[in-house]
Amino acid sequence: SLVGRNILITGGAGFIGSALIRHLIELGGCRVVNYDKLTYAGNLLSLESIAQDPSYHFIQGDINDGDTLGKALRQYEIDLVIHLAAETHVDRSIEGPRAFIDTNIVGTFELLQQCLQYYRNLPTEMATRFRLHHVSTDEVFGDLGSDEAGYFSEQSPYAPSSPYSASKAAADHLVRAWHRTYGLPVVLSNCSNNYGPYQYPEKLIPVTLLNALQGKSIPIYGDGKQIRDWLYVDDHAHALCQVAARGKLGESYNIGGMNEMTNLEVVGLICELLNQKVTEKPCGISDFRQLIVFVKDRPGHDTRYAIDASKLNHTLGWQPNESFASGLEKTVDWYLTHLDWCHQVASQS
Ligand code: NAD
Repeated sequence: SLVGRNILITGGAGFIGSALIRHLIELGGCRVVNYDKLTYAGNLLSLESIAQDPSYHFIQGDINDGDTLGKALRQYEIDLVIHLAAETHVDRSIEGPRAFIDTNIVGTFELLQQCLQYYRNLPTEMATRFRLHHVSTDEVFGDLGSDEAGYFSEQSPYAPSSPYSASKAAADHLVRAWHRTYGLPVVLSNCSNNYGPYQYPEKLIPVTLLNALQGKSIPIYGDGKQIRDWLYVDDHAHALCQVAARGKLGESYNIGGMNEMTNLEVVGLICELLNQKVTEKPCGISDFRQLIVFVKDRPGHDTRYAIDASKLNHTLGWQPNESFASGLEKTVDWYLTHLDWCHQVASQS
């Protein structure tokens, strides 16, 4: 358990980081420091429900700012760092990769250096507790192709396709090297696609929902047959707590929902839910599926990702709580009742 820990979370104002912080504060018993630059993707509105809790602290900072980072580690006597800060949108990485190199690679390097310096100066009793948990993606493994047999395991070779996944792969390698070469205590996890409340409206599920509600077209890349594994964000947050608390140092854990879907199936299910839930449909349509349009495929688009999460299941006993049907319905209901959040985060970025 993470009771009694002083935890610094980078990227805590983002989609997954905010879910993790809400979960930790609700559990209680630990101190949580959210260290976030507040890029377009980060918003403190996602943390309003816990912002007044005395065990929650916020520092606006860049992971590339080593001084501020080092001070935060010392001031709050941090004994666990969970590193989520990153540029995360694949399309943006294709249009402008530099920010991905700066944050995901150089920023991770700076964080490693600050953690190492801090770790080396800790009293022994605290040093034995200290660890850095690096949060990564299954996209580092590249494309499984359209054959339906394979799964990514922790031993799968790295073969990233996009500037985003290449920058995350580079970060994973740096983290392992700082463990092997300098003895920094680390654990890693690689997770499949997350969905759920508070996801910035640029990724597949929130874009589909929000476009549909406004009667705008719902864009699908290529033929929509790309396969992804989907995991409800709170299930990822629970898995991160398990890996951070009990994962074996130097090891990585794959996290996934065992829930493969084509993008077209995902969009179809959202449209079905909206058909049931929204009585006044926009623009005189009778079925939200009428809004689907196929657009030119993303360059380098991977065909299939699928993750084998059995190590996490067998060694730490983790399994997801939500099925895709229940998680997706919760997500749709959340967006239908939080359109103000969507408008506010979009207008502030
Ligand atoms: P997000 O884009 O919603 O949030 C990223 C957060 O990082 C934002 O709050 C942003 O302000 C912050 N940030 C960006 N650059 C920063 C910097 N230089 N210094 C400090 N803070 C900075 O991302 P997310 O979807 O919550 O993903 C979080 C992590 O999980 C990322 O490392 C991502 O690679 C990984 N991941 C995401 C998914 C997914 O499906 N979303 C799946 C697997 C792994």
